[in-house]
Amino acid sequence: MTQRIPLHDLPPDPAVGQHTPSDTVSQTMYAKRRHIYVREISGLFQRLRRSSNWMLMALYFGLPWVNWGDRPIIWFDLPTREFHLFATTFYPQDFILLAWLLIICALGLFLITVFAGRVWCGYSCPQSVWTFLFIWFEHRLEGPRHRRIRRDQSPRSVDTLWRKTAKHGAWLTIAFATGVTFVGYFTPIRQLVIDLATLDANLWALFWIGFFTLFTYLNAGWLREQVCLHMCPYARFQSAMFDPNTLIVSYDTARGEPRRDRHPKASDREAAPTGDCIDCELCVQVCPTGIDIRNGLQYECIGCAACIDACDSVMERVGKPRGLVRYTTERALAGQPTRLLRPQLLGYAAALMVMIGLLVTFIANRIPLEFEVTRDRQQLYEQTEEGRILNHYSLTLRNQDSDAHHYRLTAAGLPDLTLVGADILEVKAGDARTWRIALHTDAEALPQPSHPIELRLQSLDDTSIRRMRETRFLGPTTRH
Ligand code: SF4
Ligand code: SF4
Repeated sequence: MTQRIPLHDLPPDPAVGQHTPSDTVSQTMYAKRRHIYVREISGLFQRLRRSSNWMLMALYFGLPWVNWGDRPIIWFDLPTREFHLFATTFYPQDFILLAWLLIICALGLFLITVFAGRVWCGYSCPQSVWTFLFIWFEHRLEGPRHRRIRRDQSPRSVDTLWRKTAKHGAWLTIAFATGVTFVGYFTPIRQLVIDLATLDANLWALFWIGFFTLFTYLNAGWLREQVCLHMCPYARFQSAMFDPNTLIVSYDTARGEPRRDRHPKASDREAAPTGDCIDCELCVQVCPTGIDIRNGLQYECIGCAACIDACDSVMERVGKPRGLVRYTTERALAGQPTRLLRPQLLGYAAALMVMIGLLVTFIANRIPLEFEVTRDRQQLYEQTEEGRILNHYSLTLRNQDSDAHHYRLTAAGLPDLTLVGADILEVKAGDARTWRIALHTDAEALPQPSHPIELRLQSLDDTSIRRMRETRFLGPTTRH
């Protein structure tokens, strides 16, 4: 059956004016960005958030300055393709571990999201951490929200200009420190700072410092909530992971509505009973994304809980119980019990445990020695006057340990197989070396023209470090 969609004339748009003669209305599809003046608030969750932010920033800015022995504790040394993490050095061959680590982080994030919504966004995401830091400076240098609004609406004055200059100066300083620290994870930061001070830093370092300075300044100073709303992919799909038992920041509509009029007429003062919300809009003013939590769960909500602290402070002042806005679940709001253990949560927890277990096992059994054997391609074999067959090989050893090692080389697989050259090979920590060796055996002992043999390496100072490679020993196809 064909369905008809009813068409109605649009009323005149006050922003555009009267209808045009052809009765069409032009409207812009672009919603102009509304500047958000975030009001500062204190409370339990803001203390938690600030503690988490300061701790994360202390780690970010502090770690490149900490040394492990004679090198930084975390150092991604790209020119030598060595990645130092605490006592361990990783090489490009270990990149599977990085993929593994990323999967574990993703599973951890999914688990937390299913359990407690967007706590990652509110308490630990670098975008939120740096944005809150920038807002903190804004508040200190330009004053509280109402003064900032008044200043921006008034003609420019000397006072406004110096405050704004100081604010942008502070933002750029933090952004520059962020850029230098970021590059400090790739090049020792002490030397980098000396190079910068003596104008001796290389161009790549300068480029990346400049890039991250600008990136931080724009993201945390200017774009702010726009990054969360329009650029972050995680913000888009994580709401799909929520279920009715997920802990989210919510307004208790049943308790709050109908709202009390903030400025009631005298005749209405004794009117019908109202809910606990006094419509003060403090919860909106403190929201870094500028939304009204009373409109229900919105994808713009980053779960920072500023509205909880704001509303709790209001409830205390009006003598009502706290928690009109609180962490709760959809089921709890509907008067049903919240289910903690549910299949989705258990599934993520199990997958996370398995991945962590596998990673730990892999690292525990990782042998810090790479060993490659290549046969000499110039000459298949050599026959000596004594009737012995000689084969040449190249051995490449990469010591992936933080200590130097001596390795004993042995060969097996044929009777009377003898090594020509040194059988003790030394490689420094993190170093790679190549040797050419030869093996010979009696021509009569060779049962076939191409015979499998094994080359074995065993560290003399750590018996757990050993490797074996298979290769082939070639001889004449016909016997004389
Ligand atoms: S609604 Fe509340 S929890 Fe969500 S972003 Fe705004 S202040 Fe933070
Ligand atoms: S802070 Fe609380 S009382 Fe004030 S408008 Fe928000 S929900 Fe209502």
